[in-house]
Amino acid sequence: MAQSVVSPQTAVSRPAPLRIPVRDIVPWAVFAAVLGLVLIYFVGAEQGATSLISGTWVHEFTHDGRHLLGFPCH
Ligand SMILES: [Zn+2]
Repeated sequence: MAQSVVSPQTAVSRPAPLRIPVRDIVPWAVFAAVLGLVLIYFVGAEQGATSLISGTWVHEFTHDGRHLLGFPCH
């Protein structure tokens, strides 16, 4: 009966984990947060008295998302 012997030199090497410095992540995190807040504003509050853009096209464009996310609408 043959036995397999694995020496430490033949063990599979694992790649080093990817390290991303926090200072490289912060600008993208701020950008994503601002973009998310703008999207939430247009989906959730761009209508009636809080409307920044005249007309109803923004409201109509985001209407399905408003109902999907549970924002009060009509
Ligand atoms: Zn609606």
